[in-house]
Amino acid sequence: QAKLTGRNRYHFFDADLDEQVRTHHNRRTEVRAALRAGQLRLHYQPKLDMRSGRIIGMEALLRWQHPLRGLVGPMEFLPIVEHSDIIVDIGEWVLREALRQLQTWRAEAPHWVVSVNIAARHFQRADFVERLGAILAEFPDVPPAMLELEILESSALSDVAHVRAIMQACQRQGISFALDDFGTGYSSLSYLKRLPADTLKIDQSFVRAMLVDREDLHLVSAIINLARSFGMRIIAEGVETVEHGAMLMRLGCDLAQGYGIARPMPADEVLPWVAAFDSAPLWQAAAQLPPI
Ligand code: C2E
Ligand code: MG
Ligand code: MG
Ligand code: MG
Repeated sequence: QAKLTGRNRYHFFDADLDEQVRTHHNRRTEVRAALRAGQLRLHYQPKLDMRSGRIIGMEALLRWQHPLRGLVGPMEFLPIVEHSDIIVDIGEWVLREALRQLQTWRAEAPHWVVSVNIAARHFQRADFVERLGAILAEFPDVPPAMLELEILESSALSDVAHVRAIMQACQRQGISFALDDFGTGYSSLSYLKRLPADTLKIDQSFVRAMLVDREDLHLVSAIINLARSFGMRIIAEGVETVEHGAMLMRLGCDLAQGYGIARPMPADEVLPWVAAFDSAPLWQAAAQLPPI
């Protein structure tokens, strides 16, 4: 009798665990199927040079056009596949799609740079540079200098020497790099010094806190000065209001991205949006700011 209960329990537990594994497996399979079925989309969010009022490029942001759930954001499905090679297939799809889009924008906007987010697992693959070169070769009309890769500062922490070598190999082809969500990782200054990033991207949490918390304001100011002294460009993300933009300009940050400028949008809306964009409200707000 006791034995039987024990065995039943064991089976019960086993089935439960099995179901968890299966659910995870199913969700991964679903994401892979979405890629194959052509349900992934790229939306684009403009990057603004606040001083000149010019749009300098776009960040490509992944979406899943789900047949039942509608438009699904990347945080809802990329974490499911970030530890599998599906993330590499998705990353290569994103690169091709962004380059294809650049090809059509090139005549209208030859000076634009389009940024693509690259997952750590993808970026750290031994064949990353080689495969990226092959993908670029499929688009001979697009200069590699129009492509920027955004990597998280944390994705480089494991092996700085290796990451540095990959970055330099890409840079020799003309591709530039931004360190995304900067300030949220654990990188030290000596680590930052060893990464040849072209741009630092101030995380939106600091931008959001900057107007209400004096210490966050000083933190943003310090990051901007740090980027300057390392010869890096600096862009703020999460710029939701003209007040954010104005304060950032006051602190010496020229580039901005956020809902206050534009939300990410489908590719076909980009050129009409750019034609209608007016940066005057930002400058008016900046002119009214008191000195810090
Ligand atoms: P991220 O690269 O830091 O991108 C910025 C995120 O903040 C985007 O969310 C964007 O829509 C959102 N955002 C932009 N401006 C504002 C603002 O003013 N306020 C607020 N609250 N949010 C703003 P999204 O599109 O959901 O992407 C989330 C993250 O998913 C990205 O963060 C990036 O890490 C990842 N991701 C997106 N697309 C890709 C991709 O193609 N490949 C990979 N590996 N990761 C991607
Ligand atoms: Mg990004
Ligand atoms: Mg970011
Ligand atoms: Mg982020």
